[in-house]
Amino acid sequence: MKFGENIDGLAGCDRFIWSVNRGGYTWTKSETDKDILIETGDRRPRWYHPDNKSKAYFMELLDTQGNPDAIVEFANRFGFLGESQIIDGQKVLGEYVEDWQNAAQGIFEITTLYDALRSDKKQVLSELIQWDGKKSVLYNPPGTDKLRIVSSTDYRPLSMLRWQQGDLVEPAKDVLSLLITEFMQQQRISAEMIWRQNSKPLLRPVSTTLLGFIWLQLAQVMEIGATYRHCKECEDWFLIWEGGRPASRKYCSNTCRSRAYRRNQKDKH
Ligand SMILES: [Zn+2]
Repeated sequence: MKFGENIDGLAGCDRFIWSVNRGGYTWTKSETDKDILIETGDRRPRWYHPDNKSKAYFMELLDTQGNPDAIVEFANRFGFLGESQIIDGQKVLGEYVEDWQNAAQGIFEITTLYDALRSDKKQVLSELIQWDGKKSVLYNPPGTDKLRIVSSTDYRPLSMLRWQQGDLVEPAKDVLSLLITEFMQQQRISAEMIWRQNSKPLLRPVSTTLLGFIWLQLAQVMEIGATYRHCKECEDWFLIWEGGRPASRKYCSNTCRSRAYRRNQKDKH
C-alpha cells in the first residue's frame, strides 16, 4: 500500500469534518468549581476538513502543554476536542480542562517513547522502562510519578517471557502500542468500508471526534515512520515522510515558502 493511499484513508480524511465556533472559546467555572472551556460570542460553527497530509495536529495539541491560554488558542483554530458535554444541566456545551491536559500528556508520553525508540536513546529508555528482577517490568511515564505495570508474573505474563531480561526496546514498543490503542478506544475509533466505482474496496479507520482523529494521525505517523517539524515561516508543525514532503523541506506550504522568499528579497534591498 502506498503511503498516499494510506493517509488518504486516515479518519476517513475526505469525510471527516469538524467545526470551530465563530465567536471563539473561553474558560468558565462549573458549579463544582472546575475549569471548563465553553463557546462564546456568536455561536455559529465554521466547518472545515482537517488537513491530514500536512499539518501535525498532535504536535499543535502537545504544544499547549495543558496551559489554559494555549488551549483557547488551539480551540480558536481547530475547535473542541470532542469531549463536549452539557455543563451543569444548562444548555451550554463545555470541555473540562483535565480532558485537554490528559490528551496533551498522552501525546507527550507517546512522542517521548517514539522519539527514544527511533533515535535509540538508551538513557531516555532506561528512565521510562524499569525491570524489577524477574518479577515485573514497569513503565515510568515522563512528567508524572505514576508507575504502571507493563508485565509481571500475574499481569500479561507472556510479554515478559518473550523479552530478554533487561531489554528496554521491546517493552517500550509494547507500552507505546498499549497507550495509543487505549486512547483510540476511548475515542471509539471504528471502521468503515468504502467501495467506489472502478476501485477495490477499502477498509478505513473512522473517528467522530477531533481527538480521535489526532490519535489516528499519530498512530499512522508511527506506522509509516514519518517525522514532524516546525515551519520556519508560520511555526506550525508539519509532517515529513518518505514519498511525501522531502526531509529537507523547511516550510509547511507553498504559501509559507513564497512569503519567506518575499521577505528575504525585501531584506536584501
Ligand atoms: Zn507554514
